[in-house]
Amino acid sequence: MNTQHAQHRTYRTLPVNDLAELAAKYEDKWPEILYARGGSRAQKAMSFVVEGRIWSEGRDYNGNDVWVVNGNRCSKEGKWCECQDRIRTDPTYGKLCAHRLAVALKTNWLGDKNPTLVDALAKLVFDHGDAGELTLIVDRCYDRHGDGERFALTGFVDERNRQVKWPADRRIEASLPQMQNALTAIGWSLADLPAKLPGWTDYLYTIQLGENGLALTPEIFFHKGRTPQMEERERSRRMVLADIAANLETILRGPIPITLSPWETKRVYELRQELERQETVAGEVWSRLPSSLRAAIVEHYAEENMGVTAK
Ligand SMILES: [Zn+2]
Repeated sequence: MNTQHAQHRTYRTLPVNDLAELAAKYEDKWPEILYARGGSRAQKAMSFVVEGRIWSEGRDYNGNDVWVVNGNRCSKEGKWCECQDRIRTDPTYGKLCAHRLAVALKTNWLGDKNPTLVDALAKLVFDHGDAGELTLIVDRCYDRHGDGERFALTGFVDERNRQVKWPADRRIEASLPQMQNALTAIGWSLADLPAKLPGWTDYLYTIQLGENGLALTPEIFFHKGRTPQMEERERSRRMVLADIAANLETILRGPIPITLSPWETKRVYELRQELERQETVAGEVWSRLPSSLRAAIVEHYAEENMGVTAK
């Protein structure tokens, strides 16, 4: 089947040294997982992971995780596997078969590697990346201080430009190094700065085939993208400010009085000078004005432009 070919192609580039180290640790810890004729259940587990023969199947009735490993259903938390292997079931770690060891390897293979993320991206670009470009939906978590900046891959934009968001149990939490590693592993790169979706934490990340995209630095990856609404608001602020700058005396002498304290007056004049120096920074200047002053100016403009002037 085609999907398997794609996964093999993908995984060839994936470094397996960390996995091999982890597998060796399992062999030290449980010598009985060694096969009499050489090799071990941990080695076999490693090949399941590297070949992509393991995927999550959500949860069972007891709320335990369920995985399918090389065709066998098993659970890490439930400590069981449905396979025929008569290997010991450790009271703490559960059944020590190759399937459950594969889950242990996969879920402990941390650091800059996130096999689940690599799997998901490989599958996404295989299924939806024919155009050489694909847009991911990423939920950036801002509430995890001290844990490094983390985020979750939560869906993608399909060929008909619909946002497909996965159910909560399919979200893939990841870190930036893991994303760098995963994109390199599948041979794709970031095509553009992230764009923010309306709401709090969802961003669109467009990736492209090949490695000539943007470097995935923290500055770029965690760039605070803008929504179209934010762009529009910024643009209208600039227009209002340019207008104020050009007509400041008239406004202050105009029919609708703006009562400004001496300090506010000073700020408005400073603002005007700044605007004259460089109109493009109007947005920043505007945002530094006290909010009461901004409100007064906007109100003034709204009234004047709507023709409800006092006289
Ligand atoms: Zn098993």
